[in-house]
Amino acid sequence: MSQTVTPVFVSHGAPTLILEDLPATQFLRRLGGEMARPAAIIAVSAHWLTDEVAVSGAAHPETIHDFYGFPAPLYALQYPAPGAPQLASRIAAALRGAGFDAQVDPSQGLDHGAWVPAMLGWPKADIPILQLSVQPHLDAAHHVAVGRALAPLAAEGVLVMASGSATHNLRALQRGQHDTIADWARAFDDWLTARIEAGDVEALVDWKRQAPMARMAHPTDEHFLPLFVALGAAGDGAKGRALHRSFTHGALAMSAFAFGTA
Ligand code: ZN
Repeated sequence: MSQTVTPVFVSHGAPTLILEDLPATQFLRRLGGEMARPAAIIAVSAHWLTDEVAVSGAAHPETIHDFYGFPAPLYALQYPAPGAPQLASRIAAALRGAGFDAQVDPSQGLDHGAWVPAMLGWPKADIPILQLSVQPHLDAAHHVAVGRALAPLAAEGVLVMASGSATHNLRALQRGQHDTIADWARAFDDWLTARIEAGDVEALVDWKRQAPMARMAHPTDEHFLPLFVALGAAGDGAKGRALHRSFTHGALAMSAFAFGTA
């Protein structure tokens, strides 16, 4: 019998996070041990962008090294967890039932938005995992609605692990500098944490107008949108709590949140 698991949002950071020993790395290493063992993981990745919502259906998803110019050891890492083709079909059907033109993509593997946190949190790679895509041209409310269609799966122990970044302005990063944090990044992350902990879904979906320094924190939307899928997957009246907060590279917030109903 599976235990209910609550949806989470994690910041996956730079690909090198997994080679380092930053507070965010240590947090992700504890993540799997701090919750009930999921029956399966739905990784909502900021690095899989599609026009319509898609679910990966590979039985043996390949580890995709979707980054360039990083240290060689990163390209040797493999995450050989099984896929979950049957679950993928059920998810696509649930999404279609909710009005989305959802498809299963049998060829999509695991990009680093999925495998970096999964490898840290569940290093045995023995939990079935699949990916759900992000629609970067659609808004927060769309992603909440996608998450809402996944909500019934929590009772089966299926974990929604949304993976993006609490702030994501790559041009503003100071590589390797983890101590001094840009004021705008801290302001945005403080606002985000406060609104999540207040359960203020209305303000969160209106983040572009209400959050301080929203466009500085996210010049593009794709690393923030996975958060809304986790929020939606927690159901009506969702509230969240911060599981972790830290910063890397001067401006990259590594916040992680768990969402549940109050
Ligand atoms: Zn990323």
